[in-house]
Amino acid sequence: MTTAALPRPNLHRLAPGEPVNTNLLREHLDPFNLALEPLGPAEILRWAARTFGSRAALSCSFGGPSGMVLIDLIAAQSLPIDVYSIDTGLLFPETHDLAREVERRYGIQPRRFFADLSLAEHAATIEDKPWQVDPDACCARRKLEPNRRALAGRATWISGVRRDQSPSRADTPILSWSDKFNIFKLAPLARWTGDEVWDHIREHDVPYNRLHDQGMPSLGCTVCTAIPDGIDPRSGRWPGFTKTECGLHI
Ligand code: SF4
Repeated sequence: MTTAALPRPNLHRLAPGEPVNTNLLREHLDPFNLALEPLGPAEILRWAARTFGSRAALSCSFGGPSGMVLIDLIAAQSLPIDVYSIDTGLLFPETHDLAREVERRYGIQPRRFFADLSLAEHAATIEDKPWQVDPDACCARRKLEPNRRALAGRATWISGVRRDQSPSRADTPILSWSDKFNIFKLAPLARWTGDEVWDHIREHDVPYNRLHDQGMPSLGCTVCTAIPDGIDPRSGRWPGFTKTECGLHI
C-alpha cells in the first residue's frame, strides 16, 4: 500500500497552535497502523511531514544509532521535521561531540532542552545523587519534564524506538498515542533490526557515538550506563536496578 492510499482523516492540516483533537486522532490509529506497517522508514517520515508539517519533532539522544538513521533520512529528504535532544547534565562528552558533528554534517541545530534544576540545585533541594536513591524520580525530573516542554505545541513525537531493542519494546506500534505526553508517537524504525540500522549507517557514512565502538551500544547518563552483558544491548542501563526504561517510552 502506498502513502497515497492511506486514510486521510481531517487531522493533517492542523494549524500551528491549534489544539489537537485527540479523540479524532485516536479513532484512526488502527487503519493508519495497517497502512504504515509495510512502509519503510523514509516513506513513513515523508508521511509524517505531510500529515503534521512543522508540528512533527524527532527526539534524538545522540546515545544510540537509531536516532542517527532518522536524522540522516530526514536530512536526505529535506523534510521539515525539527530535531531536539534532552540534556540531563550528565551526558557523556562523546554524546556532546556527536551532537556537534551532526550540526556540521547536516547543517541543522537540534534544540536542547535542559532539566529545570541544575545538578547542584537538585542536590540542594531534592536529593544528592538522585540516580542512586530513586532513579525513576531522577528520570522524571531530568528527562520526562524537559521532554514535556520540548513537545509543547507539537502534534507528533518521532523517536528511534525499535521492537528488537528489548522485550518491553517488542510490541511498539509505528503510530500510537501517548497519554503521558498527550501526543501522537511515531516509531518509523519499529520494524527494523539493529543490523539494518548499522547497515544504513555504514552505507551512508552516518556519524554515530564513538562509545559504541567501545562496547556500549546504548548510552544514557554517565552515572547510569555500563558495558552490557553482551546479549541485551540495553542491559548496561541502570546497573544495579531492575529499571530498564527511563519512562519516556513506556
Ligand atoms: S538516566 Fe540516571 S542520571 Fe539520567 S536522568 Fe535517569 S536516573 Fe537520572
